[in-house]
Amino acid sequence: MSKIIATAAIRGAHKIVAQAEKDLGKAIKEKGKDTPIKYPNTAYYLPIMLLFLGQKVEKAGDLEESLQEAKKLLRDIPSDEMWLPYLGDTLDSGVATLIAEEIIESLKYVNGPNPVDGIWLGYTDDSVLRMQGIKLVDGRMPGFVAIAGCTETNEEAVKLIRGLQERNILVFMAGHCGGRAIAEQLAEERIEMNWDTFLVPYGKEITAAVHALNFATRSAMTFGGVEPGDMKAAREILMYNKGRVHAFVMALGVDPGIPEDQLIIDEKYATAAGAINFGFPVISDVNLPEILPTGICTYEHVISGIKLDDIINRAIELRGLTIKLEKVPIPVPFGAGFEGERVRKEDMYVQFGGKYTDAFEFLRMKPMDEVEDGKIEVIGQEIDEMKEGEAYPLAIVVDVAGREFQEDFESVLERRIHEFISCANGIFHMGQRAIIWVRISKEAQSKGFKVKDFGEILVAKMHEEFRRIVDRVQVRLYTDEKEVKKLIEGARKVYGHRDDMIGGMTDEDVEDYYSCTLCQSYAPSHVCIVTPQRLGLCGAYTWLDCKASYKIDAHGPNEPVAKGECIDPVKGQWKNINDYIEVKSNGNLKKFNAYSIMEEPMTSCGCFECIAAVVPEANGIMIVDRDFTGMSPIGMTFSTLAGQIGGGIQMPGFTGIGRLYISSPKFISAEGGQKRIVWMSKQLKEEVGDRLKAQLEQMGLADLYDKIATEEDAEEPEKLVEYLQSIGHPALEMESIF
Ligand code: SF4
Ligand code: ZN
Repeated sequence: MSKIIATAAIRGAHKIVAQAEKDLGKAIKEKGKDTPIKYPNTAYYLPIMLLFLGQKVEKAGDLEESLQEAKKLLRDIPSDEMWLPYLGDTLDSGVATLIAEEIIESLKYVNGPNPVDGIWLGYTDDSVLRMQGIKLVDGRMPGFVAIAGCTETNEEAVKLIRGLQERNILVFMAGHCGGRAIAEQLAEERIEMNWDTFLVPYGKEITAAVHALNFATRSAMTFGGVEPGDMKAAREILMYNKGRVHAFVMALGVDPGIPEDQLIIDEKYATAAGAINFGFPVISDVNLPEILPTGICTYEHVISGIKLDDIINRAIELRGLTIKLEKVPIPVPFGAGFEGERVRKEDMYVQFGGKYTDAFEFLRMKPMDEVEDGKIEVIGQEIDEMKEGEAYPLAIVVDVAGREFQEDFESVLERRIHEFISCANGIFHMGQRAIIWVRISKEAQSKGFKVKDFGEILVAKMHEEFRRIVDRVQVRLYTDEKEVKKLIEGARKVYGHRDDMIGGMTDEDVEDYYSCTLCQSYAPSHVCIVTPQRLGLCGAYTWLDCKASYKIDAHGPNEPVAKGECIDPVKGQWKNINDYIEVKSNGNLKKFNAYSIMEEPMTSCGCFECIAAVVPEANGIMIVDRDFTGMSPIGMTFSTLAGQIGGGIQMPGFTGIGRLYISSPKFISAEGGQKRIVWMSKQLKEEVGDRLKAQLEQMGLADLYDKIATEEDAEEPEKLVEYLQSIGHPALEMESIF
């Protein structure tokens, strides 16, 4: 390996550790050793300390110990004559650097300046980690890149970023080059940067790059179920990252005109050495000395001097990413990286639906001879006849035909319209059925995007994603007000009918349930069993979705499992299901009860929509959703809870669930069903309100809905019990939940 890199990395580590020592001294002097140290909304303390030191940092005083450990890892800076034959010292310096950077960044939450400022986002909290983690799990994101530095021109920056977005690669940004950061260049070009657009600016200083690595660390703990604590676990976490998190570092642009002392080049090397510990290689457009394969990595650690135009492709090769470049014949870029992008009012050319006009989307099956494949018609005005800034009605009517197609699949395909249309750059789409809201940006319009292009997207994507069941697709796009008004009524009738069908389907009606093992790429022993009355805990897979998915790809993540002999109908246990999960969980699980929270409940991977947990004092359960950041009445936030129950572990008293399950007649029937619900986060309670009320009515408990407490009524168990007593909640009278 190169002596120069080792020297620079070790020198950089010394500098960063020195800065950490200074910042820590200041914090302790001004605020004292007992000042709490905490990243926002996380159950992992300071993840880097937890990983490398098994240390649970809670106050400033604890950081003194972390600092000592970092110092132990520092090596003498090699003199020019000295030759370092192996990577060990550089890697140790990398670990020292990451520990010091975690000290520096966590202290910013105490000392300031506030790391969340303007475009900079600071630490990624656990709820975002879980939500984005699922995209890494299901392949929507093939991996992530951490970019340090900037490009020479803004135009180059935009081109590079669009290229990464089109390939769905998550982008972290930290550090600058002579005072200029790529995120600032993007901001000047009005590019939206946040978790929804896969563009995440952590901070201007290189030390903020530690957030990319503490994200990777928590991924292994959340989804991989690796318990931190000792060196063995640390190694497992690093190996997990090397094997499953496809990431790399892109070190950009050293402008020869910048004075050397402003390049912070040593600190960048030191941070890169930290990333190499995770098995993340470094790729650069400038000439750095290269580090060749040894130790943890089987590929090169550093490759450099790559032209900016080639850098994405080289990185993909280097890291072996599986990239699907989407071929959709429209005049704007297309890819999952644009899915969460919004179109602001001032950037909007025209819009449809929302609260402004009638708009809906509707997909139906048709006989083969009534569908002309690829035909797209616009009935009403095209975009050239529309006035800028106005709202128009819209009906998106998709007809599909296929020998293998079944009516059941209609809603499954229809639900994907949102995702497909959202993936076009400059197009915003929200909602489904008759509550859609669509915007076309000025930029997309100026590039030639037309209403007809919604059809192009849908024809291409329906064929691509549903090859096995779809032979022909045609799309009609109505912008004519009278037509839309007429058609929307018919569509509403069909929506209602579909709800009744799936709503009316019971677990007893079917012989087969479906498995989902999609999350095993992250949580290797987790299996979801999806039944008509209990959907996957992520909320994204119902029994019908799994059935369609199996039809599309019999070797995919979903397969039918004949339930076989029923062992317990109330708890939800079947012989064949037990046998199946024992095999699929690699022997980690012998059996489970689909409808119980107390006795061998289903496991959780990490991407649950909600968590149900027993509140012992109230003899009932509470349900909290991932958007709720406050304290639940069992004294834990969603984050803390999630950290404890994820990773494919079975934990009596806790279970991860999808929202729809809350109103299911099979909802924890082993413990008495919805009657046990004593507390729900308010937003969740409102969102599932209609369905829950209907179910309660069925159970003869119509007045229970109003008796379910929220954070507005009680945030701790004593208050909650008082409240429940005052209103006479029936859970208090039920037999003991234990
Ligand atoms: Fe993961 Fe279960 Fe959702 Fe499948 S159904 S994606 S295994 S949470
Ligand atoms: Zn999952």
